Amino acid sequence: MEELIVVALGGNAILRKGERGDPREAWRNVSRAAEAIVEAYLRGYRIVVTHGNGPQAGYLLEAMESLPPERPRQTLDIVDAMTQGWLGYLIQHSITIAARRRGVEVPAATIVTRVVVSRSDPAFSNPSKPIGFYYTEEEAKRLARERGWVMRRDARGGYRRVVPSPRPLDVLEAPIIKALASGGVVTIAVGGGGIPVTEDLEPVEAVVDKDLASSVLARLIEAERFIILTDVPGVALDFGKPTQRWLARLSARDARRLLERGYFPPGSMGPKVEAAVEFVEETGRRAVIGHLDEAIDVINLESGTIIEP
Ligand code: ADP
Ligand code: MG
Repeated sequence: MEELIVVALGGNAILRKGERGDPREAWRNVSRAAEAIVEAYLRGYRIVVTHGNGPQAGYLLEAMESLPPERPRQTLDIVDAMTQGWLGYLIQHSITIAARRRGVEVPAATIVTRVVVSRSDPAFSNPSKPIGFYYTEEEAKRLARERGWVMRRDARGGYRRVVPSPRPLDVLEAPIIKALASGGVVTIAVGGGGIPVTEDLEPVEAVVDKDLASSVLARLIEAERFIILTDVPGVALDFGKPTQRWLARLSARDARRLLERGYFPPGSMGPKVEAAVEFVEETGRRAVIGHLDEAIDVINLESGTIIEP
């Protein structure tokens, strides 16, 4: 059996709640995820690993803000590329180490990945994704004036820059990723949802959701299964309420209905369910959302919420 799968790692694969991004913490967390990936590889899966980059992009943006004013600032697409290298390295190296520990070699490689978005995506006229630092109202006004940033008051207090979150349409490196992964290389790709570029290859200052981008990639490479690993055991109804219950399975049609009724919040479980549903509807194959700590069972469809046709 050699099944090609896409495994999307959530933020907790790199940084756990309460951690601040110390490299030792990151190595420890990533090594756990890498062990699960190596285990799945040895069981015969051929694997593409994707991941988020929110805290790491935020870190780089903040670091640039502390440079003297005369030093140039890099654009968001370049920041995305930096995080793909950074996290790709952590994952790739951790896979090599986890494999060596078992006395085997598992080839792993990271692909700098661009994701195509449409210039006419409505998200460009309604930036909604907060990134980087929190500012005071005066600072926010100044940055809006000097840099043309769109600033918005944040729920947690203060102001943050918001950027558009357009829908991913295509992954430029998909054929390369498919060839590598099916050839037996664990391939790390679409980090942070990919670097957004328009149809005419213009890089844009935007953030693409990593689950939606991973879903597009999973369809393009004709993956057998799409796995989303996060920090909860799956999809819950009435999440956080006394009536909360975890779902073992969910049909794509029911999932879509719940999405349309606004059951899942836009910044967290919403895009995961949507990403899973789109994969299932288009391929007739299954997707699963589950806890990173149960990764092997989730990959084998023995844990988590299975979204099925
Ligand atoms: P990731 O970094 O893995 O993408 P997110 O924080 O974006 O993680 O999304 C996972 C979070 O979604 C969970 O920690 C949980 O708090 C939240 N969540 C919101 N609604 C639900 C729901 N209906 N079922 C499960 N989790 C939910
Ligand atoms: Mg998320």
